[in-house]
Amino acid sequence: MTIAFDNSYARLPPRFFVRQAPAAVPEPKLVRLNRDLAIELGLDPDYLASPDGVAMLAGNLVAEGSEPLAMAYAGHQFGGWSPQLGDGRALLLGEVIDKNGQRRDIQLKGSGRTPFSRMGDGRAVLGPVLREYMISEAMAALGIKTTRALAAVTTGQQIARTELLPGAIFTRVATSHIRIGTFEFFAGRRDADGLKQLADYVIDRHYPEARAADAPYAALLEAVIGRIAELIASWQSIGFIHGVMNTDNMSIVGETIDYGPCAFMDTYDPATVYSSIDHMGRYAFGNQPEVAHWNLSRLAISLLPVLHDDQEKAIELAQLALDRFPARFREAYAVRMRAKLGLATEEEGDLALSQDLLDRMAEGKADFTLTFRRLSDVALGGDAGPLRQLFQNPASFDDWAVVWRERLARDTGAAIPLMHSANPAFIPRNHRVQAVIAAAEGAGDFAPLDTLLTVLAKPYEDQPDFSQFAEPPQPGEEVTATFCGT
Ligand code: AMP
Ligand code: MG
Repeated sequence: MTIAFDNSYARLPPRFFVRQAPAAVPEPKLVRLNRDLAIELGLDPDYLASPDGVAMLAGNLVAEGSEPLAMAYAGHQFGGWSPQLGDGRALLLGEVIDKNGQRRDIQLKGSGRTPFSRMGDGRAVLGPVLREYMISEAMAALGIKTTRALAAVTTGQQIARTELLPGAIFTRVATSHIRIGTFEFFAGRRDADGLKQLADYVIDRHYPEARAADAPYAALLEAVIGRIAELIASWQSIGFIHGVMNTDNMSIVGETIDYGPCAFMDTYDPATVYSSIDHMGRYAFGNQPEVAHWNLSRLAISLLPVLHDDQEKAIELAQLALDRFPARFREAYAVRMRAKLGLATEEEGDLALSQDLLDRMAEGKADFTLTFRRLSDVALGGDAGPLRQLFQNPASFDDWAVVWRERLARDTGAAIPLMHSANPAFIPRNHRVQAVIAAAEGAGDFAPLDTLLTVLAKPYEDQPDFSQFAEPPQPGEEVTATFCGT
């Protein structure tokens, strides 16, 4: 079988990347293959599961037409400028055109050192690979824009971290691996030609409608701002915490990318931070919209040289676009919160109503996902008992519910039958994810992985056989910290 690679990034000037073959590994073993995604990409899943296919997914074989390369990028990490990051342990194998005519990147993560590795070993370990697999596929099933998981393999290597851990390689599929940090890379080097070529490439590939605008680069910036506003609104409405929202981890197409110490909240608290390296809470749940805005300001600054020849004018255009972010975000968020509350019409006070519920949830230590799921049950005629119980002070919920019911009475009711599809029953709860990783690392048991992936594939359906997967952690089961994907 040959893969119909159609590589465009590899045609860009040499300073955009470094060509690099993956490093061989001793004993590749397929842990999991996403057959549906393979088919969507026009790849033969049986080939991918064959010894040759697994060798490719492990980096031991470079398929015909693949042009492995490490992409160059820079970025702001926790606010600090790093002029050169780049793929230190990932390789873009190439691009394919999927069944829908969409160009998709196929990338190996954990495939060995590259010139961008700095002090790193270029490797990935099984735990974080499985974590990215589970959470990215869960996000896709939830309808949130994300990179996808095509495969996970173990390598037969033991990788030195704080302890020796089984090595693994993750195959990731993205609409693009271009980041805000890719723009910062060229801007930081005052490479105006490179910057323009990157912007043109991104317009042609991802934002072709910007080409027709009077000011195509300003239109590009506005379009990216719109997509990232939508993305962050979807995170905030589902309780997802990215954990490392550095500019190098923000995709230019508005997909969730670079799953590291990410997690879904159980108990609602906007100050929630899981990442063990985020001591200041910079990337806490409630900060995500503001951080996205800040990251977009880095993109806007990077784009100044192409926005206008006159610097003052360029700054004006950038500022104008950036100033739209808060309203874009609020609109996108309001659409989602209305759906979660079962509202089909719009009223001024809707966001205040949802915020009031969130405040009561925070105070009452209510589980984020279950509260909204049970709210749907109640709107659909169910008993309020199980919902009230989620609040330490159920009367506080009752008070809110009076106002909610009044609001529902002024609504058409058309959104109520759809509430279950706005309020998932199943999210990748941390303690479940952790249990899957422990079974895989400890006994090499991947059955729990298969089970959890099956449940997470239908997050909005009641799955009575799996109802325990909808439950928050019991006391003692909570996972309070997650670790970076290194
Ligand atoms: P991350 O925080 O995982 O998005 O990575 C930030 C930067 O560190 C990127 O340039 C990565 O390629 C690089 N990096 C992370 N882990 C490793 C590793 N084990 N070996 C080499 N480079 C790494
Ligand atoms: Mg990264």
